[in-house]
Amino acid sequence: MNENQKKILEELRALYPNPSSELDFTNPFETLVATILAAQCTDKRVNQVTPALFRDYPDPAAMAKADPEVIYGYVKSCGFKSKAANIVNASRKIVEDFGGKVPDTLEGLTSLPGVGRKTANVVLAFAFHVPAMPVDTHVFRVSNRLGLAEADTVEETERQLCALIPRADWCDAHHWMIFHGRRVCHSQKPDCEHCTLKPWCKAAHMDHMINPKLDVKQRAKEKKHAASAL
Ligand code: SF4
Repeated sequence: MNENQKKILEELRALYPNPSSELDFTNPFETLVATILAAQCTDKRVNQVTPALFRDYPDPAAMAKADPEVIYGYVKSCGFKSKAANIVNASRKIVEDFGGKVPDTLEGLTSLPGVGRKTANVVLAFAFHVPAMPVDTHVFRVSNRLGLAEADTVEETERQLCALIPRADWCDAHHWMIFHGRRVCHSQKPDCEHCTLKPWCKAAHMDHMINPKLDVKQRAKEKKHAASAL
């Protein structure tokens, strides 16, 4: 870890002490369902629909018997009809293959319909307290802008962040970057002027890295050239 990266992690820790998920859940099943619903949706919106959903379908056994159309009625405002089908189908698989309990391994979780690596890592971290580094759009963007990672894919970003950050901090660091992405380092207009990470941020000194008009491929190419010129 270089000095800039050290400073960035210290500052993020100071900015967002004791971070925790902004989704509401009380057990692994609720964590899984809330996380599926949160894809491309705000946590606030998810928290509005889940109380009724969890009241009427409190566990995988109850959800497995549900009609996806009926579940869609509960979660419509979170977008995508496929989310309702995924929740029901994942519950059916949990009942059939995992004895009605949400699996607590990456392999088990990613075998469920609609559950990718990021969702699985969130469930591992929050429901089972297994150190994990879920890389969503905020973590991907912020970590690469800051120079904590230098990657073109979420998988590679996850690998680099896990190698860089102490295991005990993985979960917190994931929250730090999500919070920073939501509050300051926005996708389209990052507020570099008021960002306290600016002195150590790689992108702040490389304008093209925060220019949303450049697509990911082009940005990656330019990043490579600019980095070699530094
Ligand atoms: S300085 Fe700008 S690009 Fe860097 S983390 Fe802050 S807001 Fe994001």
